[in-house]
Amino acid sequence: TMILAIETSCDETAAAVVKNGREVLSNVVASQIDSHKRFGGVVPEVASRHHVEQITLIIEEALAEADITLDDVDAFAVTEGPGLVGALLIGVHAAKGLSLATGKPLIGVHHIAGHIYANHLVDELTFPLISLVVSGGHTELIYMKEHGVYEMLGETRDDAVGEAYDKVARTLGLPYPGGPAIDKLAASGEPAIDLPRSWLEEGSFDFSFSGLKSSVLNTLHNAKQRGTELETADLAASFQASAVEVLVEKTAAAAEAFDVPRVVLAGGVAANSGLRDALTRRMEKDGRKLTIPPLHLCTDNAAMIGAAAMVQYNRGDFAGDDLNGRPGLSLSNND
Ligand code: ATP
Ligand code: MG
Ligand code: FE
Repeated sequence: TMILAIETSCDETAAAVVKNGREVLSNVVASQIDSHKRFGGVVPEVASRHHVEQITLIIEEALAEADITLDDVDAFAVTEGPGLVGALLIGVHAAKGLSLATGKPLIGVHHIAGHIYANHLVDELTFPLISLVVSGGHTELIYMKEHGVYEMLGETRDDAVGEAYDKVARTLGLPYPGGPAIDKLAASGEPAIDLPRSWLEEGSFDFSFSGLKSSVLNTLHNAKQRGTELETADLAASFQASAVEVLVEKTAAAAEAFDVPRVVLAGGVAANSGLRDALTRRMEKDGRKLTIPPLHLCTDNAAMIGAAAMVQYNRGDFAGDDLNGRPGLSLSNND
């Protein structure tokens, strides 16, 4: 089964061809980072315009790289949400057009299901499992008892971890996107500055990162006022240490509570070297299998959408021609 998948939920225009849900024949990503850099973040109107300009080209490239034509495609999959509504619509319209023109089925995929299924491209998913989802808009612990079924155990009550990275980076004067920049800076510093860990109530699998973000900003501000020298690499390392410790501890606790043999990491912040290392060590110690996608499958791409779409294809879960961009789409309702 050959799926052509499209992803335009944020600032990456992406198309991919995935065979049988696991074999990536092509995975083309046009990043708009350079266009958003000077604004210090994603500008929705700019994103939509770029998607319009790029989408046809990227789809053609994905087909060409896979060395197939539209005749070989069995279904078209697209991210229907969550994301920026104007950005989502470009992908949804493109997929709808292709489905209508060819008479082949259309599949609407949840972006976070895609992030989780990036792991399926690396090592076939086995259940039950717990996924730690860490991205620009989401920080969640999700329990899966089988393919395509998601139970939310906890989520962030304020900032997503990627959002916290991006905001702290901006304050430190680092370029957008801030996650990779802080990760790199942190590697050259020591976590010597005492920053809070947000555990919330005993046993809670929810997260909170706005307090941590504020204390980084306060630490910077106080140092400036006192005129004391502050090593920004140490501040970056301390911020990362706090975020990573909470993420790893809560994931380990959820894996223990639900007695799962397997944990998978998902989302753009899964590219973080500190998190990858710490979670790997912890899961080794706890004797649980851990899968982490390679960097290019952690950040937004369409191959992950094709992988998640295959589960829906197998169930006959197809979209009608009323498929729409749904910016606030929830994962649990998408069972
Ligand atoms: P969502 O998936 O929640 O809709 P998104 O698609 O914008 O949001 P992703 O593309 O999945 O988010 O991830 C982007 C986020 O990942 C950004 O916040 C970015 O700073 C962060 N990120 C990328 N690489 C790293 C890294 N090495 N360390 C920390 N954060 C990183
Ligand atoms: Mg992005
Ligand atoms: Fe994403």
